[in-house]
Amino acid sequence: MVKLKTEEDLVYMRENAILVSKTLAYVGKLIAPGVTTLALNDAAEKFIRDNGAEPGFLGYGGFPYTLCISVNDQVVHGFPSGYALKEGDIVSVDCGTKMKGFNGDSAYTFPVGNISEDTRKLLDVTKQSLYKGIEKAVAGNRIGDIGHAIQQYVEGYGYSVVREMVGHGIGRSLHEAPEVPNYGAAGHGKKLLPGMVICIEPMINAGKKDIYLDDNDWTVSTRDGSNSAHFELTVHITEGAPEVLSTFEFIENDIKL
Ligand code: MG
Ligand code: MG
Repeated sequence: MVKLKTEEDLVYMRENAILVSKTLAYVGKLIAPGVTTLALNDAAEKFIRDNGAEPGFLGYGGFPYTLCISVNDQVVHGFPSGYALKEGDIVSVDCGTKMKGFNGDSAYTFPVGNISEDTRKLLDVTKQSLYKGIEKAVAGNRIGDIGHAIQQYVEGYGYSVVREMVGHGIGRSLHEAPEVPNYGAAGHGKKLLPGMVICIEPMINAGKKDIYLDDNDWTVSTRDGSNSAHFELTVHITEGAPEVLSTFEFIENDIKL
């Protein structure tokens, strides 16, 4: 069942969305060759707690860390570890916060030092596909309109959309109805209503769409070993333009945190 948000709910959801956005930027500033992904995780946990919230992922469904950190061919749900980032890597950081009874959830894929032109293009196209999806997140449209816009855009570049993992509603729970696939047919699926808050999060592979699950039962990687990128924002559906609750501005415009 889809839970529409009240104005009061939205106040707390905006607070979570901004904190998660700031946490991603804080982590982004630490990303450099030689830094371990576990160090990023621990810094994020401290930052979230120092700001009066709790890590939204830690313990969720048994997930053992604050961040999902997925490097190169890892798609999502990577475990922070002693792996030291290398120049040319890409690192998807997915972060959740919980405060005042509500959740925040966003993700960004960062380059480590200089990356190849091909890899840069994968990041740019994946992020752009998220904005293409957001454009369709308007009351009266359907869920399929979002996925269709994302799929059309990325497949135009020869990339592929991961099918098994999807975006989702968010609120008092990290994952609420409806599911928000990154593929689909325009005009199909649940109708978007004012007051819905959803996470749109394209997971895009440079190669084929197929994935496999790691022995840890969480981490998903591309079967062909190609790189995968992931960007996620939280969006409030209104009668007019979508209100994007989280933001990459703290990452991209060097705003004081
Ligand atoms: Mg999410
Ligand atoms: Mg996420």
